[in-house]
Parts: sequence; C-alpha cells; structure tokens
Amino acid sequence: MKRIEAGSYYRYLSEGCKLCRRGAKLVLFVTGECPHSCFYCPISEERRGKDVIFANEREVRSADDVIAEIELMDAMGASITGGEPLIKLEKVLEFAKLFKSFDLHVHIYTSIPAKPHVVEKLAEYIDEIRFHPINLEGVERFREPIVYAKKLGMDAGIEIPALRFSEELARLVNECDAFMNLNELEFSSTNFDELIARGYEPGEFYGDVKSGEIARMYAEVVEKFHYCTALFKDKAQLRRRLIRMAFNHPDFYRVTNDGTLLCGFIEGDIEVAKKILDAEGVEYVVVEGGVETSIEFVEERSEDLKAAGLKVSIIERYPTSKRIVVESIPL
Ligand code: SF4
Repeated sequence: MKRIEAGSYYRYLSEGCKLCRRGAKLVLFVTGECPHSCFYCPISEERRGKDVIFANEREVRSADDVIAEIELMDAMGASITGGEPLIKLEKVLEFAKLFKSFDLHVHIYTSIPAKPHVVEKLAEYIDEIRFHPINLEGVERFREPIVYAKKLGMDAGIEIPALRFSEELARLVNECDAFMNLNELEFSSTNFDELIARGYEPGEFYGDVKSGEIARMYAEVVEKFHYCTALFKDKAQLRRRLIRMAFNHPDFYRVTNDGTLLCGFIEGDIEVAKKILDAEGVEYVVVEGGVETSIEFVEERSEDLKAAGLKVSIIERYPTSKRIVVESIPL
C-alpha cells in the first residue's frame, strides 16, 4: 500500500486518479438532476436538482465555455459528473467527444448500472467508468456493466463514500478485477443534518470519524484499492489545480504557494488605462471591471495613473474563471 499526502493511500491508482492528483483534471458537472435522493448527497443548493452545467467553477452555456476552461487550466483530462450524468447521455457524449478532440483522458461517474448499448456508446469516447451503487445496495447489478466496460477497453471500478463496510461489494470488485475508490464520507451544508441523524460524526476537516476504520477494512481485502480523504481533495488536488491554472497566466502575474495570483489592478476608464499601457509597451490583460498588469508598473506609475482619473491597487485573486479577489491593497 502506498501512502500519499493528507491520509490518502492506494494499492492501485486509475489513470483518472493520477491526473486528478496532479490537478490536471477538469471537472464537468453535466447536470444537477438526479433520480435518487441519497441522504449523503453533498451537492450544493446552487446545483442540486437543477439542469445546469459547470466546467470547474465556470457556468457553461456553450462548448466555448468548456474550451475556455480546458485552456485556462491546460487540462490533461476531464471527469464527467453530476447529478446523474447518464440522464443526459447526449450531452455526455457531446462533451466527451469534445474532450477527446483535445486528447484528454476522460472518466465518468454514474449511479446507473448502464445497459450494454449505453456502455458501448460511452466506450467510444470515455476511458474510465466509476459506478456508485446507491447506499451500497443492489451491487450485483453492476457486475455486467463493469465486465462489459472492461471488455470494451475501459478501466472500470466502484467509487463510493465510506458509509460502511460491504463484503458483497468488496467481493464483486475483486471478482471483476475492478478498482475501488473509497472517499472519506464528507459533511457538507446540504447533508449535515441527515448524516448526524444517522449517527455519523464530523471529525477534522469535515470527514466522518469512522471513515478511516472503514477504509482499513476494505484495504485488507480489496486488491485494487484507493482511499481518498477530504483533506487530500482540498489541500492537494485543488491546490495543484489552482497552481496549474496560475502558471498558465502571463509572466507578469506572481504565483503564491497557495496557487493565487498577485498583480496590479487598474480601474476606471479602461480605454484611458489601455492607452497609457500601450504607450509604455507594458503587458496587460483586460478583465471584468478593469485591467490587470504587473505590480512593478502600478507601483512605479501609480501617481500618473491616479492623475489620469484611474484607481490603482495590488490584488491577490484566484486564477479561476470567477476571479475571486482575496485581498486588495489600494495604492
Ligand atoms: S446519486 Fe449522486 S448526485 Fe444523485 S443523489 Fe446520490 S449522491 Fe447525489
């Protein structure tokens, strides 16, 4: 068993997990709709039950939004998730095809034991499939789709939260030569009351205190096993994705250890700002509400910029499409 950061460990890591670990996977949330209502569902109110699409944090209205996100993070792979992706099969196939045109590794999650004709369609563009038996019940229904997906060349496995140990599930995974990704059971604002009512108990970083013990039970018997903690998802995967996105920006941005960006920010009449920057031959990026440029330039020229009626500051912001500003220091 190989131990990695933040309490995660594995004996087998699928290609999708390897890329996710590197922060190189774009997450396509293809719909918030789902026929189930799992008590442990962590999906936010903003997305739950709604027919919305997000590529990471970016709301998707057309394929161009997805392409912009692929480029922003220089993605090497994509995961298709939801809600239940397979109730939007046509959308899944459309986006999976798009991902393949960028040569990305693609994996999908589903709670549906897909029929052979659906597995065949998915296998055209998708490399890896992860099944989620609802509440760890009816696990035998997933045997056939796992075996068929593997026969068609996909990697296949089970991905579940650490609700409890299921011997039946462990046996199925081994017999199918499939993998098991076990996620620490995470408390979120939308599942908190339900988890508490069922006796789960939040520990550090909002993971359930019993998840580690459940993971050890599976690890003893499941051959292709991987345990992923809430802390790993947050501190390792997310941070690496941010750093990846941050370094994909022009050189004038400074990248922090957390993956945020530091730069100069000019607000006011954008055309006036652009004229000054162009005259100086300084690199800049026009964003919503202003212009971003180097810290050196705004520090050196703050008085001139202010005399031209512009507002000048140094900002620290996330490199994501939403550009959330963490800190702003007016000059
Ligand atoms: S299948 Fe997934 S998306 Fe649907 S209710 Fe269960 S946890 Fe939520």
